[in-house]
Amino acid sequence: MNFLTVERAEIIRETRIVLGFCITEIKKKSKMILPIVAYGDPILKKEAVEIDQDYPELNKLIEDMFETMYEASGVGLAAPQINRSIRLFVVDGSPFAETDEDEEEDPMAEGMEGFKRVFINPIIEEEAGEAWGFHEGCLSIPKIREEVYRKEKIRMTYYDENWQFHDEWFDGYKARIIQHEYDHIEGVLFTDHLSVLKRRLLAKRLQNISQGLISVAYKMKFPSFKKGK
Ligand code: ZN
Repeated sequence: MNFLTVERAEIIRETRIVLGFCITEIKKKSKMILPIVAYGDPILKKEAVEIDQDYPELNKLIEDMFETMYEASGVGLAAPQINRSIRLFVVDGSPFAETDEDEEEDPMAEGMEGFKRVFINPIIEEEAGEAWGFHEGCLSIPKIREEVYRKEKIRMTYYDENWQFHDEWFDGYKARIIQHEYDHIEGVLFTDHLSVLKRRLLAKRLQNISQGLISVAYKMKFPSFKKGK
């Protein structure tokens, strides 16, 4: 082997190292931020369908949904909101656990620390307790918050990301987030729970959202403004 070929071998080796490094970097960053479907898109009004274990690239989809939710500072995200009409949603209620030191402990926030879950093919089996009001927001309906009344406790059956079956009661903010996300896979939005008068008052703002006439800090897909943001 003469000098030239040794040098070439060295270059090839170095290139491989650099390429290897790049591939690792790409793998690390492979989670994708998906555009969130805005109010007015028909997919948000559709009842979603169940999936089975053969659903393609489910783990990747779940990772991307968490990533998309965190990017938009949400506490829950349902598959129809990222344009997939399937019975799947993810939640992470940790932000509800953050209280200032001098702030009183909120009983509804109990157990919210680390409340990160994946719900596949969930069913609300029972609802119990008093209905209570809470100002809800939705990543598909940015900048609008309205009081929605929902029952205090729910019993859910569902599969997690490992296809383990669960039968479990939830209350407080946990129940609240789940009820909101569950509505999404049923084709229901929180605005559907409002009075006719309230909805009439919001009509113009909702129309603006569906037309993309709103500035949002995260990626969205608007039904009547094809280019999106
Ligand atoms: Zn929502």
